[in-house]
Amino acid sequence: KIQPIYEPLNSSSAIALVNRLGLFTENSVLTCNEIGDGNLNYVFHIADTSSNRGVIIKQALPYAKVVGESWPLTLKRAVIEANALKIFGSFCPQLVPKVYYSDEQLAVTVMEDLSYLKISRKGLIAGEEYPLLSRHIGQYLAKTFFYTSDFYLEPGKKKDFAKQFTNPELCKITEDLVFTDPFFDAETNDFEKALTEAVKNLWSDERLKLEAAKLKKSFLTEQEVLLHGDLHTGSIFAGAQETKVIDPEFAFYGPAGFDLGLYFANLLFQAITRKGSSKEVIFTHLHDVWLTFEAEFSTLWKQESKEVYCKTEGYLEYTLQKIFTDALGFAGCELIRRTIGLAHVEDLDGISNEGERILAKKTALQLGRALIMNRQQEAKIESLTTIVKDQL
Ligand code: ADP
Ligand code: MG
Ligand code: MG
Ligand code: MG
Repeated sequence: KIQPIYEPLNSSSAIALVNRLGLFTENSVLTCNEIGDGNLNYVFHIADTSSNRGVIIKQALPYAKVVGESWPLTLKRAVIEANALKIFGSFCPQLVPKVYYSDEQLAVTVMEDLSYLKISRKGLIAGEEYPLLSRHIGQYLAKTFFYTSDFYLEPGKKKDFAKQFTNPELCKITEDLVFTDPFFDAETNDFEKALTEAVKNLWSDERLKLEAAKLKKSFLTEQEVLLHGDLHTGSIFAGAQETKVIDPEFAFYGPAGFDLGLYFANLLFQAITRKGSSKEVIFTHLHDVWLTFEAEFSTLWKQESKEVYCKTEGYLEYTLQKIFTDALGFAGCELIRRTIGLAHVEDLDGISNEGERILAKKTALQLGRALIMNRQQEAKIESLTTIVKDQL
């Protein structure tokens, strides 16, 4: 058996790779920095010092960078990420970075440099408004959902398609860290002492756990659409005019409401932490993403669906209702797990005043619970904002 040739890149081998690919002119003077702030991968930024043009090389490591070599993790996620970027990019070229090259053996994706934009989580924390962000994400979700669903694809084709995106190891991370561990006294949990009572209340809430079990089952069993799988605001680059969705290494066929729910939840951290009128901007984002999604998805359904039942009265409304309800539940799980689970968000942890921070975290837990328990609402964005305003 021939061993696959894998080696973690360093600055000089990363530069050698882009030179081999001919991405820069021959007399370019290239610099290289590892800029990854994620937990699982290397991200190299390679730039030509004279033209300021750059490219990005993302490389999967055979273990989670944050934990070290004690947590091995499949390199296959690099191929999944590259293929997902290409597929999502074919539906929405404006909203996804261009992929210049990918190599399965080296577990690398070479892609468009988006350094001129800002990671939307950071921008939102800094008070940026991004008026187009949620409309773009609504379009992204409508297209990626519709074109990978049974409403558009032949069932056989969809199943073939789903095969290249069975992503068991990364799905397992979500199953554990989003749907299971935060609801039990698991070792991976990480929360401040002052939250102990609130957390114990959650662990002893059997009605909440029953609903979490149902949401986990939906994640485990429903192959509705090709999901991004990790669509939080740290996976989105934003600017005044542009939006780009990166980092789909968790892509797999799952319930459509999952991506939308993660996006809702990560906006909601801002609804919790912002003060006064700047909260309203976040409510506008929640409106924009749902209304844009609903309108675009409905248009695609009416114009391009191949499934015969798409002409049956009430089926579109049923489908939108299911996505909305699921999204509220998944948003609730995300709010809870980002507050007390293994992977936190800067929106909450970055609050330096302890009293304020604990209060914000308690609100996130309560809101998470409320969304899970009250998710059977009419699919209108006001249903969501009512639940949210009740808890803030
Ligand atoms: P991980 O899977 O490890 O979270 P990401 O794909 O989210 O990796 O990338 C981590 C960071 O690297 C991003 O937050 C961003 O700062 C930087 N980055 C990733 N892709 C690009 C890109 N195409 N252009 C510029 N910076 C990027
Ligand atoms: Mg990331
Ligand atoms: Mg990041
Ligand atoms: Mg990632």
